[in-house]
Amino acid sequence: MDGFQETISFIRESFNSNDFIPLHEPRFCGNEKKYLNDTIESTFVSSVGAYVDKFEVMMQDITSTNKAVAVVNGTAGIQVALRLVGVNAGDEVITQALTFVATANAIAYNGAHPVFLDVDLDTMGLSPVALSNFLAENGEIRKDGCYNIKTGRKISACLPMHTFGFPVRIDELVNICNSWQIPVVEDAAESLGSEFKGQPTGSFGEVGVFSFNGNKIVTCGGGGAIVSNSIALGDRAKYLTTTAKKPHPYEYYHDELGFNFRMPNLNAALACAQLESLDKFLEDKRALANLYDNFFKGSDIRFRTEMPETKANYWLMSVELKNREERDLFLKETNMAKVMTRPIWQLMYKLPMYESCFRDEQINAEYLEDRIVNIPSSVR
Ligand SMILES: *Cc1c(COP(=O)(O)O)cnc(C)c1O
Repeated sequence: MDGFQETISFIRESFNSNDFIPLHEPRFCGNEKKYLNDTIESTFVSSVGAYVDKFEVMMQDITSTNKAVAVVNGTAGIQVALRLVGVNAGDEVITQALTFVATANAIAYNGAHPVFLDVDLDTMGLSPVALSNFLAENGEIRKDGCYNIKTGRKISACLPMHTFGFPVRIDELVNICNSWQIPVVEDAAESLGSEFKGQPTGSFGEVGVFSFNGNKIVTCGGGGAIVSNSIALGDRAKYLTTTAKKPHPYEYYHDELGFNFRMPNLNAALACAQLESLDKFLEDKRALANLYDNFFKGSDIRFRTEMPETKANYWLMSVELKNREERDLFLKETNMAKVMTRPIWQLMYKLPMYESCFRDEQINAEYLEDRIVNIPSSVR
């Protein structure tokens, strides 16, 4: 029964700890306190302030996009991003079933219907083959976009997700979607710092969204960013997330239903300090990934590594066990030994809210659901 003791010891050594080892904890080793103090001293702690502007410029830089908008969290960012590309109530949005629930929730908040397609085994993200098969069978281009001929609904967006920071085949997905006139929104919540063929994730679709929640590669407590190469879409994102207020020195006038999804300056201050450390974090994570990769080589446990022509941020590192039984044993033994591990998410259509949504055959998603486990991944 002590089959995984070697792994547990190795993780303890790598983190140099005999205490509880969490899956992922934030690291504050730069200007965090200084910037937070600045906001308090300036009294600009809330929804406007210099750090919000600075954060947006930093995000434009890091993601090589023309416009970044700070928002209150990643989920709200995706919700608005879908609306920006034209998602309306009653439409369909294509995504993967193997994802964190926020991806599907952001679709549902718009009153739209998620369509769950299978993932690729290697990227753990939306499969271009599944996408083109689905569209070939169900899609029809009409004068205002693509429709699902079986349901009569408009397919108004495709929302792939970069699982654990491993980039999906985003170029193929974008090509397929372009030919079917479907806008792409990237759920890049987990992939800050990841690249596909040298280009940052989040910059391929019409819009991309990042998260700065406490468990992500860099955090600002809670927060998100919407990025786009279209200045018009970016400006509209800012407008919609700041209550759709027409600029005026003192009058209140709002010409449509906007949201209060602003990131407070307090959080933006933390975000700026964290972003300054991003390169260091990426380096440290890559070093840990190399350690894990060497350790698991030749064992029954497969450490997941980045695909050719991509750079993963190695946000959450993951291993693949032989089967569900082994996975359950691994989870039990490691957690009992206070080395935190967690299975990948349950597939979205197994959750009560999404039970009745359309899905294709989920051969790869089911396979991964049975086998993938996250292991401790913090920056050390
Ligand atoms: C974290 C995450 C989100 C949501 O981000 P929040 O900032 O927590 O709202 C969305 N999608 C995925 C895949 C995530 O991992």
